Amino acid sequence: MIEPPLVTPSAALARIAASCASRGIRLTATRRLVLGLLLEAERPLGAYLLMERLRATTRQAVSPPTVYRALDFLARERLVHRIERLDAFVACAAAARDGGGHAHLHQFLVCRRCGRAEEIHDPAVALALSGAAGQVGFSAHRMTVELEGECARCAAPKAEPRHQPPT
Ligand SMILES: [Zn+2]
Ligand SMILES: [Zn+2]
Repeated sequence: MIEPPLVTPSAALARIAASCASRGIRLTATRRLVLGLLLEAERPLGAYLLMERLRATTRQAVSPPTVYRALDFLARERLVHRIERLDAFVACAAAARDGGGHAHLHQFLVCRRCGRAEEIHDPAVALALSGAAGQVGFSAHRMTVELEGECARCAAPKAEPRHQPPT
């Protein structure tokens, strides 16, 4: 069972912008636009697709470094995440709900059919992995957990229409 989105993209953006302002984090026009596009996107977006959407929105030339810098900043602030296996970005689901700014360990469930990526937060996963690493003397600095498979909506019986693949 998939819960409906808790907040609209524009409400999420307003919440994140307010949280950034209160924490002294500068959300420039470009950063805000990039974040807004990711909040609106149904699926993870690669940097080039983002750049095209940014150009379409602003009707201005946008250079790749501009987009990459904005993405770097947003990722550092944990407002967006990079899905490594897709080389694409998603808005952080936790930030969309509460404005962001919290350190959190996330895992991603990537659906092969519809291309959506669901962010989940299970501390037990991170604990088990770092525990296993510690047993062989490895100290983990960074953790990426991405599962590929079929989401509940795509796996549902035929009565429910399947989501269209990304266009
Ligand atoms: Zn997150
Ligand atoms: Zn799916």
